[in-house]
Amino acid sequence: MGLITFTDKGLYCREGDFYIDPWQPVQRAVTTHAHSDHARWGSRLYLAHTDSFYLLKARLGEATQIQTLGYNQSLSINNVKISFHPAGHIIGSAQVRVEYKGEVWAVSGDYKLEDDGVTAPFEPVKCNTFITESTFGLPIYQWRPQAEIMENIHRWVLRNREMGRYSVLSAYSLGKAQRLIHALSAYGHKFYGHGAIYYMNLAIQQIRPFPDVTYLRPETPKEEVKNGIIIMPSSDTNNPWLRKWQPSATGICSGWMQVRGAQRRRNADAGFSLSDHADWPGLLEAIKATGAETVYVTHGFSAPLARYLKEEYGLKTGVVQTAFGEDEE
Ligand SMILES: [Zn+2]
Ligand SMILES: [Zn+2]
Repeated sequence: MGLITFTDKGLYCREGDFYIDPWQPVQRAVTTHAHSDHARWGSRLYLAHTDSFYLLKARLGEATQIQTLGYNQSLSINNVKISFHPAGHIIGSAQVRVEYKGEVWAVSGDYKLEDDGVTAPFEPVKCNTFITESTFGLPIYQWRPQAEIMENIHRWVLRNREMGRYSVLSAYSLGKAQRLIHALSAYGHKFYGHGAIYYMNLAIQQIRPFPDVTYLRPETPKEEVKNGIIIMPSSDTNNPWLRKWQPSATGICSGWMQVRGAQRRRNADAGFSLSDHADWPGLLEAIKATGAETVYVTHGFSAPLARYLKEEYGLKTGVVQTAFGEDEE
């Protein structure tokens, strides 16, 4: 049996008696990041990166017991050494390194390699066994550089403005929204958000200085909003409050937009392939950099990636079922 085992509550380290991103309540949860499918409600104690503290409080409630650790700092539980390393996915996201009697395992959580200017950039973790996500684990997924995508969004916004249309960007409230706000504010854009986007931005501003998002209300002056950008959560494209802001053009920001037809299926005017996950070359690069001889693949296109790693790199691989969702994309 390995240092980390796969149980019906999640990834479990028996020697340290803790779970990593459990999907059922446990005594001690080690949490890679604050996305709701990784940080589920109900555990007695959470260990998370320092920057996740306010995000977890915002999502799981004020009473949540959270112990924090910085990047490259460690903590020992029953002689099991736990440390966090930047995953580059969203603010506060961490890979979890677990060491016991000289054996090292690393759990990636969600990750991406490109430095987005908001999140601490990804750092590979040397280990014997690596448990990797594979959300975009197919060769068709290859991202363009963020600067190029932001330039495209900026030009799209200017075109909408010329045509007298509101620009509405649909983006996940934690992660994608901050990347848009950070990168597009450099072009001088102002932002308007509803509920989830506005409150998440307040939580981010507790962690670091960050551009403002104005709470979009029916009485917000129309001309002002037309010159700015409306950001709404990705789950919310049919929200009735949007009817007030017409005519509008909607752009969806997601890695899934890379596949033809995805934009049409979601009734968007534009699709921008911006993802908080590693693309296919990124996954391969990150996995190679760990030097791991065994790789477990989960959370996405697990089987094709595992097969590739085995056939092309001669690695020992396994496919593991986890209960993580796709909410952040
Ligand atoms: Zn995530
Ligand atoms: Zn995830």
